[in-house]
Amino acid sequence: MSDRPAGLPAGIRRLTVPTPFAVGPVNAYLIDGPPLTLVDGGPNLASSLTELERLLRDAGRRVEELELLVVTHHHMDHVGLTGAIAERSGAEVAFLGAARRLVEDYAAEAERDDAFAAALMRRHGVEASVVKALEATAARMRWFGAPAAVDRPLADGATLEIGERRLRVLHRPGHSVADVVLHDADAKLLIAGDHLLGRISSNALVARALDQPAGGPERARPLLDYRRSLRATRELDVDLVLGGHGPAFGDHRALIDRRLADQERRATRILAMLRDGPASAHAIAASIWGEVAITQAYLTLSEVLGHLDLLEDEGLVRETARDGVVLFEHVGRGG
Ligand SMILES: [Zn+2]
Repeated sequence: MSDRPAGLPAGIRRLTVPTPFAVGPVNAYLIDGPPLTLVDGGPNLASSLTELERLLRDAGRRVEELELLVVTHHHMDHVGLTGAIAERSGAEVAFLGAARRLVEDYAAEAERDDAFAAALMRRHGVEASVVKALEATAARMRWFGAPAAVDRPLADGATLEIGERRLRVLHRPGHSVADVVLHDADAKLLIAGDHLLGRISSNALVARALDQPAGGPERARPLLDYRRSLRATRELDVDLVLGGHGPAFGDHRALIDRRLADQERRATRILAMLRDGPASAHAIAASIWGEVAITQAYLTLSEVLGHLDLLEDEGLVRETARDGVVLFEHVGRGG
């Protein structure tokens, strides 16, 4: 994909806000209004807020002047500062209406997510002691997020008018259940959050399904959702994509084709690993990533489960269970 040295369209600035996460800095986009708009903001950290303030000053603006905060999804690096900025500026907060509880009731929802993740890891073969350690880590990490009141619940297909721009809000579940992208059809511009990134392939994290607010065992099938979302985005007329991390890029169709093909290749590889008999998703992750399947158990489990969902959807794999652990077997290969 080509970065555009010429930079972003007039009236849009990329503010690169530091995060303590492996992904590196997160992009916040300042869009001239009215309403003066910030898309995403950074994690709930004093150092991130200080840097965001400095970047706004460089752009000749102050936090207090912001009028609208659009949050692309509820992950900590994007939503964390929203509440604090809204409080200081009085800006309205816009977020996918169907998922507003994830932001408004952030702490309780994050706790439910963590409990869901722990149960999922145990069911898919991660050792109890590892799950316990990861639960403690997750509880410490929670503070990088914070709640915010949603003033403008967004519906899929809604339009935001910002200055001369008309941005259509499109729900694109996959990376999270709540991802939205903003499409400016006239400018052929897409603000994509983490739905589509130029330099990193977005992971499709397993999460509670949106219609399971109580935190039952039902999980979303994130990779299947994500592939549908990618195909929908592929249809959009877009010249330039502004993602949640990294520089802007073009040629979104070639990139999406590559992402889809990579997923299919990985699914084929996982299917081959089931030739010798059924295995748990965690055992598969361990043979792909070794030690990382333990330190990053949830991420790697999500990755494997997503691809197993894909294989199951194609009738190539089915689930069985042994001693309370879910095993996947290659259909027609016995086991
Ligand atoms: Zn992110």
